[in-house]
Formats: sequence, structure tokens, C-alpha cells
Amino acid sequence: MIDPFGRRISYLRVSVTDRCDLRCVYCMAEDMTFLPKAQILSLEELDRLCGAFIGLGVERIRLTGGEPLVRRDVMRLVRSLGERIGPRGLKELTLTTNGTQLTKHAEGLYAAGVRRINVSLDSLDPGRFKALTRWGEIEKTLDGIFAAKAAGLAVKINAVAMKGVNEDEFDRMIAWCGEHGFDLTLIETMPLGEINEDRTDQYLPLSVVRRRLRETWTLEETDYATGGPARYMTIRETGQRLGFITPMTHNFCESCNRVRLTCTGTLYMCLGQEDAADLRAVLRDPAVDEAGLREAIEAAIARKPKGHDFVIDRRQNRPAVGRHMSVTGG
Ligand code: SAM
Ligand code: SF4
Repeated sequence: MIDPFGRRISYLRVSVTDRCDLRCVYCMAEDMTFLPKAQILSLEELDRLCGAFIGLGVERIRLTGGEPLVRRDVMRLVRSLGERIGPRGLKELTLTTNGTQLTKHAEGLYAAGVRRINVSLDSLDPGRFKALTRWGEIEKTLDGIFAAKAAGLAVKINAVAMKGVNEDEFDRMIAWCGEHGFDLTLIETMPLGEINEDRTDQYLPLSVVRRRLRETWTLEETDYATGGPARYMTIRETGQRLGFITPMTHNFCESCNRVRLTCTGTLYMCLGQEDAADLRAVLRDPAVDEAGLREAIEAAIARKPKGHDFVIDRRQNRPAVGRHMSVTGG
């Protein structure tokens, strides 16, 4: 699948649920209203849709959410997608998780063919972790991370960089990741969804962070790429990679290879735009066969926009798009 700007679409992110067992302050409001179950695609429907995307050339699928591992029986979908890994199918199946359920699922993930996962961890300080996630216990996430490592999964830690919140911790996190063999990616906050807080207070440009980190660490350029939006450097002292996802300071849209499917079957062609395609209606229409489903997907890709236009400033303190990251899938 090639979009109107010549970008090959080979990466699908699938949000399998909008629900979560945490309430990270930058992601959700505390009293979120979740979607009624009837609107949510069944695991079989999600599997069928993913199959159609793979048939059209998608090579990598990342399951996300909400928290993907809180969806009941989600491992059934993981196993079924894992069976599609092969020379003419998927090259890679990955997952982004908050880690709370990993002690239960790490071995199953590995057995299904998952080899890499991203775990979100914004702070190593228990009190701060609790404040940031509202409901989280850091021990649970850390146990999950080490269970994943023990199961043979490569772990990358994702941390959202927030001004005045965790900006004093990045040196410690780099050292900790180095000690345990994890890569680390820092993410700028994006203006997605109402969160009951002022985003201008949270926004910390990673250009500033990188300059500060250079005072302690030797950051070496690399051409390592995972197909995602992160730019990676290698930290000479630890040998681990450090990624930067900078939607606000650097527009990464030129090389965008991805689309995002929500748990209701809505396909968003861009994280930062409202346009979407309703694939659930197509999927549930008895008159539409596999060819019709493929046509609907291709028609959506033909509308993929050139890019987003995120802005966080004081005059315009509104989200760029109304939906939360937990809906579109981070
Ligand atoms: N629950 C899983 C987790 O936390 O990893 C998967 C979904 S979560 C929405 C995916 C990623 O999006 C997390 O790394 C989270 O930190 C990030 N995220 C959520 N809201 C964000 C925002 N407004 N700006 C930047 N990153 C955000
Ligand atoms: Fe849940 Fe992930 Fe959002 Fe945190 S970032 S509230 S863990 S979906």
C-alpha cells in the first residue's frame, strides 16, 4: 500500500481496548467514560481485520491501547497473530504496555512469537510513579519488566518527558536501563484529549533534554531505526540506545509508514488528524466480502494526510484532536 505522498504503509498499530488499569495524568482524565462493549470489535473481528492488512502488505503490527493486557482473552489474539509471522506474512508482532500484567503474560507473549516489547515507565521513584499514574504501584510494573526480560523479550522503556515532573530523573533512568540492558525512548507530550490539566505546564522540548544529557553522557549518532518515529543515539558509557520521539519540535511525518486501528474498527490515517474510516461497518456488512474489505482499507489509505499540526501554546490551550491517546493507541 502506497499513500498519496509516496509513503509505503507497512506498519499497523492496533488499540485492542480503550480501557486501562492506570490513569496517567498526561493520557487520561481520572473519571474516563469508556466505550460500551457493544461498540468494541470482538477478538475474531480484530484478527480478521489484521489479516486483511497483512494481505495488503502490512509487515509489522503493534498491539496497544488503553492497556492491551487488560482486555479479556487478549492472548488469544496474540497467539493467532503470532501464527501469521512468516516469510509471506508478518515480520514482527510487538506490544506497548504499562507492564502491570506482564508477570502473568510475558512467557505467553514470547511463546506466541513476540520478541520485543515497549513498557511505559516515566519515573523510578515510587511516590512519583504513583502520582503520575494516579493508581499505579511501581513494584508491579518493575516485576513485570523483569518477568519480560527473564522470558527472553527485549524491553524498551518509554518515558514521557515532563517539565518539572521527571526531568531530573533522566540520568538515573539512563544508568538503570544501562544496568539492565534496556533501551530507553523519551517522548514529548502531545496535545491529545482533555486531561483536566494545563499541557503548557508539562511540555518539555527534547532538544533541551538532549543538550543537558550531553553534559553527562556521550551520545553517538546511529542509523538504527525500528520503523517508528524515534531517532536513536547510542550512549557510549552504557552501550544502550536512547531514542527521542519529538512530534512537537521535529515533524516526523515525511517518513510516516503507519496507520492506527481502534478497538471499534475505526482506522485513523494520522494520529494528529480527525479523518478516519469506519471499518467496523464494512466488516459487519454481510454483503461485503474479503475483496470489499480490502477495497475499503485501500480507499482509506488513499486519504492519508500529509501530516499533523500539533501546537502547544498558551493562546490555544485546546487539544489538537479531541480523542485521547488511549483511544487512538499510543
Ligand atoms: N497502556 C500502554 C502504555 O502505557 O504503554 C499502551 C498505551 S499508551 C497510550 C502508549 C504510550 O503513549 C505510552 O508510552 C504513553 O506514555 C504515551 N502517551 C499517552 N498519552 C500521551 C500524550 N498525550 N503525549 C505523549 N505520549 C503519550
Ligand atoms: Fe493507561 Fe498507558 Fe494511558 Fe497510562 S499511558 S493511562 S498506562 S493507556
